Amino acid sequence: MSTDHSAALAALVGQVAGPPSVALDLVNEPMIRHWAEAMGDENPVYQSDAAAREVGLPGLIAPPTMLQAWSMVGLKGTLERDALRAAGVTKGEENANDQVMRLLDEEGYTSVVATNCDQDYVRPLVPGERICVQLVIEAVSDVKTTGLGTGRFLTNRYDFYVVGDDFPTDPAARADAIAAAELVGSMRFRILKFAPAPKAPAKPPRPLPAITEDTAYYWEGLKDGRLLIQRCTSCGTLRHPSLPGCGTCGSLEWDSVESAGNGTIYSYVIVHYPQVPAFDYPLPIGLIELDEGTRIVANLDMEPGDVTIGMRVTARIEKFDDDLSLPVFSPAAS
Ligand code: ZN
Repeated sequence: MSTDHSAALAALVGQVAGPPSVALDLVNEPMIRHWAEAMGDENPVYQSDAAAREVGLPGLIAPPTMLQAWSMVGLKGTLERDALRAAGVTKGEENANDQVMRLLDEEGYTSVVATNCDQDYVRPLVPGERICVQLVIEAVSDVKTTGLGTGRFLTNRYDFYVVGDDFPTDPAARADAIAAAELVGSMRFRILKFAPAPKAPAKPPRPLPAITEDTAYYWEGLKDGRLLIQRCTSCGTLRHPSLPGCGTCGSLEWDSVESAGNGTIYSYVIVHYPQVPAFDYPLPIGLIELDEGTRIVANLDMEPGDVTIGMRVTARIEKFDDDLSLPVFSPAAS
């Protein structure tokens, strides 16, 4: 890692990240009802004053797990904030949290994943209360190597307060006012900022064939877009794979003819394992009986489940790279 911001990060631990923010809505019954319904929580103390009083509460309470919900800015606010961030616009001065995130980015830890969240509740919240939240940088870990990669854990603590109607609107004044407010709960939210894993290597090229004096014509023919078959010039017998001599008459003289590329699937196999990185699996491979009479092993360009013995197929010559072109067979147009 080129940059090490350990000292700068340590200096930010314990700092408050900007002025506290006040919840858009007071704690209220409609939001409590929607939350309880969404969570499937039918505890009656979230539903009626009477039920709450029966268990000794002064009245209906908010589910403690709603703690963070009161201070969230909603979809519109989130989208606006994300749009500003994407445009590189910083609203106001860079706060301690912005600084931590920037320093971690500069260390190369640009990926982020949330790892855990704990909440502490001091007392239940009741309708009509106004919530204010303040973020504190609680901890930045040493550099750690995890299964995801190398990076640092960042723990932010959100302290939730109940504030009065007279809570100042001026951000600067809020910092002082919060000190006198009642703490009702805290949430520790931990993330791992880590270096993204290096990109998976591109698919390697297909292995190249071993080319001999007897087979070079075949591979050269494919590079020219032609599927060639070896022919004995003495007796005219076609043969594949290529051999130095004719199995019928023994002649060593030969040339080649071009196949029309039409044939029938004589047999096939669907390869699952072992997997070679240059190929996609499952990999259908056909033994094609060409109309000229010889058989050839080739890739089948069709879904594995669609391959049947006796199927009529047609070849096209596919160029895989500068050094390799191969026949690929697909179902013949009927
Ligand atoms: Zn022959």
